[in-house]
Amino acid sequence: MNPVSNIEPTVREIFELALKLDEGKVTTYIPELAGVDPDLFALSICGTDGRTLNMGDTGHMFTMQSISKVLSYALVLEYYDDETIMERVGVEATGEDFDSIIKLDHHKRPFNPMVNAGAIAVTDMIISRFKDEALVKSLDLFASVLGKNEVSVDEAVFMSEYRTGERNRAIAHLLKNFSLLDNPVEEVLALYFKHCSVQITTSDLACLGATFSNKGCPASSVRQVLKRETLQKVLSVMLTCGMYNYAGQWVYDVGFPAKSGVSGGVLSMVPDKMGVGVFSPRVDDKGSSPRGVLVNKLLSERLNLHIFAC
Ligand code: GLN
Repeated sequence: MNPVSNIEPTVREIFELALKLDEGKVTTYIPELAGVDPDLFALSICGTDGRTLNMGDTGHMFTMQSISKVLSYALVLEYYDDETIMERVGVEATGEDFDSIIKLDHHKRPFNPMVNAGAIAVTDMIISRFKDEALVKSLDLFASVLGKNEVSVDEAVFMSEYRTGERNRAIAHLLKNFSLLDNPVEEVLALYFKHCSVQITTSDLACLGATFSNKGCPASSVRQVLKRETLQKVLSVMLTCGMYNYAGQWVYDVGFPAKSGVSGGVLSMVPDKMGVGVFSPRVDDKGSSPRGVLVNKLLSERLNLHIFAC
């Protein structure tokens, strides 16, 4: 693989092409997100050697939203055995919207941890394991995987979603009805919304992707922050379910694991090569940034990055 600097001209061209795309709309169902400048656009790539390319508004902080689901699932995989987790959440793609009011699979559990129902079930397990320390433990793991000392929650976005998130509240009550939550609905939702409100930049996302592609080790350190088994599982689910009802087309066209969020962030990673972070607040009806999708598609095509590339 070329060092990141050698791919810079290609990446610059892709950035300019994606900049011309203005499809999609800024998310408004979380009122605080509605005020974001729709024209912001940032792209960062971090190689497994830690070298980073940054283009556009890479200093802009945004909330992780559903990208946080990758990390809450990783946290649960670090602390629970497979059998216990599988009682609460499966690993099958839903083919439905990310906030579909739960459809349980034939084992009576949410289909996967990348959609809201599954992530809410996972969040409940984090509370059961860490009790009052659940938020601190989550933020510690988020920070170490992002290669930072600490991360912070955007309280305005958190409150905005906590006050208005009735659809997620409905999902959580249904989960509770099916005995898939052990803790009070409001407590689980509060932690779930806090996870979604963790602030990041595209360069943080690229570092996170690089940590994943570097077998759980941030590029700048030798410290293993996630078990290899955890990564193998998280990445498998990201590959098959990370882009929701676009997941099949994504694997076909792009061919490496990714996760999007309704704030407009897209995290992706190319095994053993690089992590990629894109941010553009306009999202499509599946909750993913069209610019983020295009960037990844072009990177895959032009640099031959599909995991099954011939
Ligand atoms: N916080 C958002 C929600 O629960 C996350 C959804 C997303 O990013 N796809 O609705």
